[in-house]
Amino acid sequence: MQKGSFQWMKSINKTMILNKIRVCGSISRAQIAKDTKLTPPTVSSIVKELIEEGIVIESQQGQSNGGRKPTMLVLNEQGFYVLGLDVGPVKIRTVICNINGEVLSNHIRNLPSRITNDILLDLLKEEIHFMLNRFPDSHRQLIGIGIGMHGVVDVKQGNCLFAPNLQLRNIPIQEELENHFQVTVKVENDARVMALGETWFVNEHKKNGTIVTLNIGQGIGAGIVVEGRLIHGEHNLAGEIGHMSIDLSGHKCSCGNFGCLQTFASGSAIKERALKELSMGKDSLLLDIVKSDLTKIEAKTVYEAACKSDQLSIDLLHNTGIYLGIGITNLIHLLNPTKIILAGGVTNAGDFILKGIRDTVAGRALTQDAKSTEIVISKLGEFSAAIGSAVLVLEDLFSVS
Ligand SMILES: [Zn+2]
Repeated sequence: MQKGSFQWMKSINKTMILNKIRVCGSISRAQIAKDTKLTPPTVSSIVKELIEEGIVIESQQGQSNGGRKPTMLVLNEQGFYVLGLDVGPVKIRTVICNINGEVLSNHIRNLPSRITNDILLDLLKEEIHFMLNRFPDSHRQLIGIGIGMHGVVDVKQGNCLFAPNLQLRNIPIQEELENHFQVTVKVENDARVMALGETWFVNEHKKNGTIVTLNIGQGIGAGIVVEGRLIHGEHNLAGEIGHMSIDLSGHKCSCGNFGCLQTFASGSAIKERALKELSMGKDSLLLDIVKSDLTKIEAKTVYEAACKSDQLSIDLLHNTGIYLGIGITNLIHLLNPTKIILAGGVTNAGDFILKGIRDTVAGRALTQDAKSTEIVISKLGEFSAAIGSAVLVLEDLFSVS
């Protein structure tokens, strides 16, 4: 694979045409001119540039309306790569995607329990090299690397300011990776890249309104997209819903406050509550699954037991849904979103948590419309934040502003 910076001279018209080709999949020059209201000579000259840059190729002939069949234009899927990494508190998930954001290959790596900024940066480099080496003979060019980092991210500098679950601060991710790989690197909060990934794959006309994506894993964060644009807030804190206090006298959170939503409804909270119930002598299939070794209990063990009709586990997940429902109701009252998409490991529990969420929202939201806010589980699966990280780079390539 060729490394080195992907050179791309942007202009509004050029990006508009490129995006048109992406959204349509295949389109003629004449149709682009018609849809974008640009003159046919302008379209021809920009398309010529795009073809010379290798981003667009001429495909088969399209349908004719009587005259000569038009030549169709498509994105050069074989020409480029983009990498996306989801850096969670426990794992790094990596995908390598084509220019359409479709995953070509993926990989998961566990983080060590003791970690420093340098160890994390070295692991990111190793992981990127590992993925690039999976395609050693390719002629494709790497457009860039997107990083979805949990915690608070300064997107301008590409630094992670604070990753509470790892207790790391000021990690210069962008600078370090750009120096090492000599390509564009973009860093964003993991819940926000998830939100980007979700909107990338929906039809253009459905991007209106406010869409909130909730990442519910070892931590809880939200990505807020209003009219197709990500909201960051003044100090990059917008969407830190996991640290919304819902109980003044609750447990201490990794952020230092007490009773945050994520102390009730994250993957680690599910595990802690399961351990507490078992320590009080409750009977459960969980004990059989881990052969009485309590250190082996995790949120996914609780899900496994719930699937086998274990009542304690079913109740634990249902209560998690109720807590999430309270957080989501607060979110609805704050933003009144069009749609809420749930993603992250905890959502693997599916209907076990979804009923609690929907019932709580239906019981607590202020109006009938708010009660019926659309709440769905993401279809992008485990790699949704990694895909969103790749989209972070693609967005830059395709966005007009
Ligand atoms: Zn907190």
